[in-house]
Amino acid sequence: MLNLQHLKKYYQVGDTTTKALDDVSVNFRNQEFVAILGTSGSGKTTLLNIIGGLDRYDSGNLIINGKSTQNFQEQDWDAYRNNTVGFIFQNYNIISHLSILDNVTLGMTLSGVDNSTKKQRAKEALERVGLKKHIHKKPSQLSGGQLQRVAIARALANDPEILLADEPTGALDTTTSKEIMDLIKELAQERLVIMVTHNPELAQQYADRIINFADGKILSDSNPDNEPIPAENFHPRQTKMSFATALKLSFTNIATKKGRTFLTILASSIGIISIGIVLALSNGFQKQIDATQSEALAQFPITISQVTADQKELQKGDNSSNSKQKFIHSKAVFAQVNPVNAAQHINNITPQYINYLKKIKKTDAQNISFASTTSLNLLRKVNGQYQPVTFSTTANNSTDANNAQSMMTSNLGVGGSIYPAHNQGKQNFLKKNYRVLHGHYPKKATDIVLIADKRNHINLNALTNLGLDIKNKQQLQPQKLLGTSIKVVANDSYYQKLPTGNFIPNNNYEQMAQAPTTKTLHIVAILRTKSKNSDGILANGVAYSDQLTQQIVHSNQNSQIAQAQKNSTHNVLTGAKLSKQERVMLLTALGADNTASSIQIYPNSFQEKDHITHYLDQYNHGQNKKNKILYMDLAGNITSITGGLMNAITYVLVGFAAISLVTSMIMIAIITYTSVIERTKEIGVLKALGARKKDITRVFDAETAILGLGSGILGIIIAWLLTFPANSILYNMTNLNNVAQLNPLHAIILVVISTVLTVLGGHIPARMAARKNAAIALRSE
Ligand code: ADP
Ligand code: MG
Repeated sequence: MLNLQHLKKYYQVGDTTTKALDDVSVNFRNQEFVAILGTSGSGKTTLLNIIGGLDRYDSGNLIINGKSTQNFQEQDWDAYRNNTVGFIFQNYNIISHLSILDNVTLGMTLSGVDNSTKKQRAKEALERVGLKKHIHKKPSQLSGGQLQRVAIARALANDPEILLADEPTGALDTTTSKEIMDLIKELAQERLVIMVTHNPELAQQYADRIINFADGKILSDSNPDNEPIPAENFHPRQTKMSFATALKLSFTNIATKKGRTFLTILASSIGIISIGIVLALSNGFQKQIDATQSEALAQFPITISQVTADQKELQKGDNSSNSKQKFIHSKAVFAQVNPVNAAQHINNITPQYINYLKKIKKTDAQNISFASTTSLNLLRKVNGQYQPVTFSTTANNSTDANNAQSMMTSNLGVGGSIYPAHNQGKQNFLKKNYRVLHGHYPKKATDIVLIADKRNHINLNALTNLGLDIKNKQQLQPQKLLGTSIKVVANDSYYQKLPTGNFIPNNNYEQMAQAPTTKTLHIVAILRTKSKNSDGILANGVAYSDQLTQQIVHSNQNSQIAQAQKNSTHNVLTGAKLSKQERVMLLTALGADNTASSIQIYPNSFQEKDHITHYLDQYNHGQNKKNKILYMDLAGNITSITGGLMNAITYVLVGFAAISLVTSMIMIAIITYTSVIERTKEIGVLKALGARKKDITRVFDAETAILGLGSGILGIIIAWLLTFPANSILYNMTNLNNVAQLNPLHAIILVVISTVLTVLGGHIPARMAARKNAAIALRSE
């Protein structure tokens, strides 16, 4: 069965060399009861460990069933220990956190025996050692003799060919010792039993053969085996532990120290809690911002105006308003274009461009409003007489209403707000953003409205510019305002040509008001903003529809004055020379320019706005600077700032929280390390039963996985619970409702991160455990 040839095992500690085995050659038969007698420290345990494959010899050879072990790989030894050898130790080495049955089945689990066979065999083995009645007890409820019986049952369960017993009765009283020896004797009928003892009487009484051992050498052998080495007959099966077994081992181990495990999990969940809270808060804030944004976006359109400012040009400008500019160290003085003027850009809005805009997908923007900032020639009957009025909200200092020059210039300024008459999304723009205080929503292009602010104030200038006699703070009578009619006079009636070629406004207002081309506008409502977000989209004062402006442009574009202005580089009213941009504005004001002077694109939502700006940028791609069409995206400017800020804050907070996560990870590593130290014995036992290195690593990986999962889940639960007080505090502080919201996806990711990190943290100590020498592990106390 076993042939030992010149086995040597030396231990080198410092300068001294201990010859634990010093050239041992001996053969063992397939069936006999061998007792190895020797004093303490003579090398008996070393011999047994080497025979059992728990330890490696330095030189010589061990031949098992005719097979030399000189070229054995780790897995061959594992298989040998599992299938061929059973161990019984002086201190039993029962794994205390497993049940008696599980202790006995462990070796079979490693060799892949199925569940029911395993249990059946374990029960038989326990019956055989006389523990039938105690099967359901815990190891801690058994006596020493009974524990040793469990150990014997465990050794027997796989029906090994070789049973190795290292002082099996060393810790037992005489009576119990006898019982155990009888049991071992009985087992020796079917197999080779090698028992180490320092008790000569026991050896004499029970063994078939006694080998005296001293200082690593055999002194005498009562019945040497001189048979030749048999033919090779060695076929152990490879062992393998399933992850389920590893989990069970870890789980039962953890279950024995619930308090400590809970504290560990609690402490290591702090990282997850803090990240969870930070994410919940930023998630909530982001949602709030997004909600505000899309609301704001609905109101703040992307605007393309005829005359606009090149934002890039403004920013890069070498101007003193740039706060980074330093004072110059020189007395030299220079001329320079006003940076604001330099940044002025005239958008050449061509019919082609309008067509390009009309191709914007309906799914991106339901409504595009093409408004003309054409000026309106307005008259209103005040005290029975028509007089010029405006929609302007700027104070008109002219007391003389007949002062044509002053009226003319103020008239050319754009007064009032223009709102899109089309439906925006499913709803009309006005209905969506404004509610009626008095009157009704406009039905026709000639219906105009008054816009009041949140506190129902209407701009006094807007009212007085309409020729109304109203004082500051005066309470208005809505019924009197509603129905107020205002005449819009066509250019050809309003202006007359002078012999010089220049134009001046007529002064026969009565006649103008009666002209067939004159339209009548009516104030039909006083409206007020529905929410804070839409506050200020339409200026406080008069508002009219873009349809109206289009009709005016249409009727004015062929007027004499418009045609004359088209052919002149001078102002046909004042004769003054016009700058390019002044000319554009004047042409538009007179209706000579029938392309839209202001285009508003209302994105359907936040995402769609990006599609639109991208589409607009595409038009400019490759165009020279002059032909580029620049747009204003006010909502975008605001939201990109707040969004970026929020992200930055989140990164910083997550960064801090991540530090606590790393701390947790280190803690888990320490905990695992402690667990490895604590479970050294168990590692030894597992190895004795044939566990591979990989299996040992698995047991500890499983343990850290349980801890990591536990702390992840606990962390998430605590973080979620904390969102409630956090929300109530935030609500009291900011009036924002339900800010902290834990995204379920984040929760899952955090649990995964926690598990992965802790397994990583615990993996190094787990590998350490796997590398532990089994012999040393079993010697440890
Ligand atoms: P026994 O079992 O007969 O009491 P051991 O086989 O345990 O003896 O030990 C034999 C000798 O080898 C002792 O002197 C012991 O100190 C030494 N020894 C055993 N294991 C180690 C080790 N891991 N490192 C150093 N010396 C060891
Ligand atoms: Mg010993």
